[in-house]
Amino acid sequence: MTVKQNYERISEQINAAKVRANRNDEITLIAVTKQVSTDVAKEVLAEGIHQLGENRLEGLKEKQDHIKSDDVVWHFIGSLQTRKVKDVIHRIDYLHSLDRLSLAEEIQKRAVEPLKCFLQVNVSGEDSKHGIHPNDVIEFARQVSEFDKVQVVGLMTMAPFTEDVAIIRNSFKGLKELQEKVKDLQIANIPCSELSMGMSNDFEIAIEEGATFIRIGTDLVGKGR
Ligand SMILES: *Cc1c(COP(=O)(O)O)cnc(C)c1O
Repeated sequence: MTVKQNYERISEQINAAKVRANRNDEITLIAVTKQVSTDVAKEVLAEGIHQLGENRLEGLKEKQDHIKSDDVVWHFIGSLQTRKVKDVIHRIDYLHSLDRLSLAEEIQKRAVEPLKCFLQVNVSGEDSKHGIHPNDVIEFARQVSEFDKVQVVGLMTMAPFTEDVAIIRNSFKGLKELQEKVKDLQIANIPCSELSMGMSNDFEIAIEEGATFIRIGTDLVGKGR
């Protein structure tokens, strides 16, 4: 399967999920290129996808060294160590993994422009997962609202690792409810209008439950080449 064929299939799946969910708003597809070479990332760009996701500084740097396109929107989707903030934030347009106050403080200290961030939420409460506990999200949003360099555009989650569709759907529903709750509070600097959820295995469910950003790696570009 080529990237082109994969993209055609995924586009159809996205559209079908939107029809099922009665949606005609915009959904941003992020091509997660963390497992593939710069050449494959270029194939993605050739298909007209200009949103790229990486989860490590090294991978981000490598892609950026070889891709000289001004219109790429860069998404950092991996957990970010505080000491790497200064190297990462000037390279990206979105951070999907804001999960602790110390990270927000470091962004506030280092950033020149406000950075669009998603709060990563551990909806399922699994110990193994990064993310803010759902019960702590509102308090976290209030604390972060004082940081003018941290703009909370929405919430992000990774569904639990399971085949059980009901469990996956429930975690997406939970994130959507939480996102609307935070948005309705109209906290300064916290628009929280977006939902980053859905990966190769579950993006159709995520769209049905309101995802506005989906992050697809394996289904689009495969694993390693
Ligand atoms: C790797 C990754 C993805 C993409 O996963 P696939 O299953 O390959 O589509 C999405 N989001 C995050 C946070 C990831 O780490």
